[in-house]
Amino acid sequence: MDYVLLPKIELHAHLTGSVSRLTLHEIWKRKKASGQTDLEDPRAVMPEGKHDYNLQTFFPLFSSYIYNLLTDEESIRYAINSVLQDFLADGVVYLELRTTPRSTTTMSAEAYITVLLGAIEEFESLHPQLHTRLILSIDRRHSIRMAESILDLAIRLQDTNKCGVVGIDLCGDPTARPGGEVAMFTPVFEQASRAGLGITVHFAEAEASGSHDELRTLLSWNPGRLGHVIWEDEEARKVIVERELCLELCLSCNVQAEMVHGGFEGHHFGHWKDVKGPKISLAILEWAFGKRMTPAERLRKNQRMLDKAIRELDQTRVKLEKQEKTLIQQIKTSAKNGQMGACKIQAKDLVRTRRYIEKFFSMRSQLQKISLRLQTYRTNEQMMQAMKGATMALGSMNKSMNLPQLQRIAMEFERENDIMEQRQEMMDDAVDDAMDVGVEEEGDEVVEQVLEEIGIDFNQSLGETPTAIGNPAIAEGKIAQAVGGGSGGDPVDDDLQARLDSLKK
Ligand SMILES: [Zn+2]
Repeated sequence: MDYVLLPKIELHAHLTGSVSRLTLHEIWKRKKASGQTDLEDPRAVMPEGKHDYNLQTFFPLFSSYIYNLLTDEESIRYAINSVLQDFLADGVVYLELRTTPRSTTTMSAEAYITVLLGAIEEFESLHPQLHTRLILSIDRRHSIRMAESILDLAIRLQDTNKCGVVGIDLCGDPTARPGGEVAMFTPVFEQASRAGLGITVHFAEAEASGSHDELRTLLSWNPGRLGHVIWEDEEARKVIVERELCLELCLSCNVQAEMVHGGFEGHHFGHWKDVKGPKISLAILEWAFGKRMTPAERLRKNQRMLDKAIRELDQTRVKLEKQEKTLIQQIKTSAKNGQMGACKIQAKDLVRTRRYIEKFFSMRSQLQKISLRLQTYRTNEQMMQAMKGATMALGSMNKSMNLPQLQRIAMEFERENDIMEQRQEMMDDAVDDAMDVGVEEEGDEVVEQVLEEIGIDFNQSLGETPTAIGNPAIAEGKIAQAVGGGSGGDPVDDDLQARLDSLKK
């Protein structure tokens, strides 16, 4: 899968933290040329490939460059443009950039944010596939007055037009205002919430900012999202699950800055990914500490080097073999001419050359052996990765297979099916009845028609037929009996008749 092409949403990106060292270098170069800075080249101070940075060494240095170089509109525009370009190239489609409004030597905090919003809008009109919104950050070290002015700015520049401010954030040095002191910002965040701004906070980012009091305070602000979530306690975990909060986790930054222990395997993403409810947003901050090579990449690189060495050995050996042929020719010539001295020297040369060729062959075979072994390792590694992927996929499939639910569905199906069958039966009966009525009537009609055709009147023939062939006396007698009056002489009948007559009176 191409992870770059995969559309992504980035919810936790600090603007200044997303400025690449190359961009910083470009801005520095321009300022240096016009005599606006006497700082050293940031690329020399913070080389791209250098990995031994951590939070304590890297950020202060990096921040000082940001604050000293991004001071005017041109530099800020250049920086935000290259940041957006990078996110666009990474396949990000929705980006929430956060930044702390700050005044510079030439601009107010409001002007700084307005420049950013203008640049974002311009970028979006050129690249409509990337939507960018701003989150304004309040720093833990800020005064309450500063925090209020940031909130004020956020409300004024709220997302009314298409590129605006969507939320506010609490960030900054985790050791500042420990033990719940951040409660001083509670009114500001409550007001932000009332104003309809989204709230996200750096939550339990370090041990110092993971105290019970602080976490309780932060959760009381009703944040929609939590950043980092490394040192949270059991109570906070429960709240996260209950409220189904969105977690902004950062694997690469946490692992590379050694904010968590146990590498990628030990990262708390492994815990949260299996918990139902909370949503997880993964931030990618790979650039900040440079990329480290994975074991697979190292193997691949070594293999490439080995293959190159083998190729070079082969080339040298071919040259030596040519030299060998030339030497043999020369020895023959010398021998013909009787120059025995030269012949001996050339013979020694030949022996030496042949030994080298042999040595090259054995070196090549050694390298080949190592290369093959590496290849085997790589294949094993690839196989392991593939198996790991398949296992994870199987695991998640098993997890998503809810057996009780399946059983319930099957039972429901059976019940509904029974009802359906019963209804079908009733339907069939009703239809059959309806059809039978029709059939009978139709049948009568047909019979009548046939009889008519052969000259018999269906309604009369049955009455007349007996008179034609039967005994009229018997028929008359029967009729008399059926209609019977009082003339019969049966005592029971006479008695009944008498009673009937008395009733009529
Ligand atoms: Zn952050």
